[in-house]
Amino acid sequence: MSSAPAPTEPTTPGLPEEVSAFADLGLRAELLGALATLGYEEPTPIQREAIPPLLTGRDLLGQAATGTGKTAAFALPLLQRMPVGRTEGDPVALVLVPTRELAVQVSEAFHRYGKDLGTRVLPIYGGQPIGRQLRALDTGVDVVVATPGRALDHIARGTLRLGALATVVLDEADEMLDMGFAEDIEAILEHAPDQRQTVLFSATMPARIDGMARAYLTDPVRILIAREQPVAGEAPRVRQSAYIVARAHKPAALGRVLDVESPTAAIVFCRSREEVDRLTETMNGRGYRAEALHGGMSQEQRDRVMGRLRAGTADLLVATDVAARGLDVEQLSHVVNYDVPSAPESYVHRIGRVGRAGREGVAITLAEPREHRMLKTIERVTGQRITIDKIPTVADLRTRRLELTQAALRESLLEDDLAPFRVIVESLSDEFDLMEVALAAVKLAHEATLPGTTDEDEEIPQAAVRPARENRPGGGEGRGVERRPARPRGAGTTQVFIGLGRRAGVRPQDLVGAITGETRVSGREIGSIEIADRFSLVEVPVGAADEVIAGLRGSTIKGRKATVRRDRDGDSRR
Ligand code: AMP
Repeated sequence: MSSAPAPTEPTTPGLPEEVSAFADLGLRAELLGALATLGYEEPTPIQREAIPPLLTGRDLLGQAATGTGKTAAFALPLLQRMPVGRTEGDPVALVLVPTRELAVQVSEAFHRYGKDLGTRVLPIYGGQPIGRQLRALDTGVDVVVATPGRALDHIARGTLRLGALATVVLDEADEMLDMGFAEDIEAILEHAPDQRQTVLFSATMPARIDGMARAYLTDPVRILIAREQPVAGEAPRVRQSAYIVARAHKPAALGRVLDVESPTAAIVFCRSREEVDRLTETMNGRGYRAEALHGGMSQEQRDRVMGRLRAGTADLLVATDVAARGLDVEQLSHVVNYDVPSAPESYVHRIGRVGRAGREGVAITLAEPREHRMLKTIERVTGQRITIDKIPTVADLRTRRLELTQAALRESLLEDDLAPFRVIVESLSDEFDLMEVALAAVKLAHEATLPGTTDEDEEIPQAAVRPARENRPGGGEGRGVERRPARPRGAGTTQVFIGLGRRAGVRPQDLVGAITGETRVSGREIGSIEIADRFSLVEVPVGAADEVIAGLRGSTIKGRKATVRRDRDGDSRR
């Protein structure tokens, strides 16, 4: 970033402590309402810097990567300045983006922010049937979000008219240049009115971008979000790693990583209240004791949550930056960034919560492929390495659990309070070999420590780093295995495999209903229930397994016949 131009208006994005609220930026009530619904608690640094000048109509040159909140930084002022209830057909804003994926994402963001303003937004990209785009353009739009090639097609056909444009945004300009869109962009800007606002965002600032800025922007405000500043000394010494994972797999990845790391206590940072609530619920559903902490809670509620974390009755705190301010928990061993933080400062601030007083701290970041660049920026700014790790596999998890059991046994052996159990070992040794007795005891101890939380049936897909520009199909449903709150797998139980799962709409109550309806087994005798996409596993007493299998084979679940058999310990599916 040494080639970055010096800001004409120096900006110093401060630590989150110093920030203003969205309301202080002078945004209209409809926008503030939408932001509150989305659970955004405060503007990110780029939003704080960019929104005020954009509201006054200034041009802007911003250096910011994905994950900094740059979309809202340009979308909110655009929506604010847009005449309400426009009926004219031609767009007042054009956002050019490099990929179809981004076109969809950005127009969705406009929809979310502008929903109470009734803003008409249209994404336009190659590969989509042109007929639909023509009809939409014909009925009238306020904002067009387009890839340059397809935008130019429409301009040439006369179906996209730029005469009413008040603002043009070039988003991810460096990517657009890399993809060879320079001439298209030039041609498009030729058609745009001279009296317009032009906004250019780019993750990097090579000379070509600077040239573009000189050619198309007038006296722009310059914003540089990642300052090249040696704050390395300020950053705490913690082990820092990141996992690249698609959004849909994040809850499963978080669970897996937590199981392998086995933190004393962890705090998981999310961007919004909404995400905090959703993730807390998901993690509780997966058997973790998670507590939410966000800015909407009273001091009393917050104290209660903190109390539970300190007392060890909660192991996971899911929080927004605002809520976690000033928080100091001795026990914290792990900080998890559920998303890449929107600014390096915020990353430094978050991970400063661990690794205090000479203890080892661990910082983990779950990054989507697109956010890889932001990770690199954070590394550069902090001067510390963030290792990209592979998501632990089921085999890793098992190995780790065995290690934990071994460590627990070693501790127990050293404690010397084993005398009361001697009689058991002695009486069993009459009948069995001592090694066998030990093995059985270890097995029981191991099973008792299983948290019963993770998806042992599930390998979590590792996402590749940023092949984001192709038209990849949407993230799709997570393959997460849904579990009823698990008690430890009981002695004398076995699992029954049923060849229908979530895809068939199967819920735990359907299985309980079918079993109790078809057999003499009562609901209380049914143990854990796991529902995966294509199959389910139900824990039942060994003695009742045959009856359950026969009963289920003779009936239907959700109107369908299913394969039902004794589970072969899941091996066939792995
Ligand atoms: P972007 O850098 O525009 O791709 O945004 C990254 C993510 O941050 C998106 O998921 C936004 O919904 C989210 N986001 C943007 N601004 C905020 C904010 N002020 N508070 C919380 N989340 C935000």
